Amino acid sequence: MRKLLFQSLLQSALTEVAPVPDDAALDELAQSINHAARRRLGRSLSIRQVDAGSCNGCELEIHALGNAFYDLERFGLRFVASPRHADVLMVTGPVTKNMREALERTYNATPNPKWVVAVGDCAMNCGVFADSYACSGPVSSVIPVDLSIPGCPPQPIDLLRGLLALLAQTNARGS
Ligand code: SF4
Repeated sequence: MRKLLFQSLLQSALTEVAPVPDDAALDELAQSINHAARRRLGRSLSIRQVDAGSCNGCELEIHALGNAFYDLERFGLRFVASPRHADVLMVTGPVTKNMREALERTYNATPNPKWVVAVGDCAMNCGVFADSYACSGPVSSVIPVDLSIPGCPPQPIDLLRGLLALLAQTNARGS
């Protein structure tokens, strides 16, 4: 025990070195999303996240959008606590049998116009959980999906790019 304590005092931190931030690119991306949302909705975008059975890896990346580095709320984009206040449902994980009904009810409780984003490989095709007895299927087998963002898990910047692509697509077709 004493040896372990001594070693830990001499070791450097185990955390990885953070990537060099590209603040300008990030700001531009988030501002583009906000402008696209205001053009489409007349206000900023509200997002409700739904964990339909994920391992929580995708949630960690989604939560990172609110940390001091990404700080999404400074651009008006916000996560809301109720589907009744949401424009976008961000769904993670394969849909488990236990979460199927909850996902359907969340979708039905979200007012129109609404969009569904399937986040991560599991949401797209059940990913590593494909053979699990507990899986009901990918998100698209339960509710209509407007955009899928691949990755295991996708990085926060991929999530921002996905939201921008979604808004650009809906602005173009007016739906
Ligand atoms: S895509 Fe990867 S990180 Fe996301 S829920 Fe599935 S296994 Fe977890």
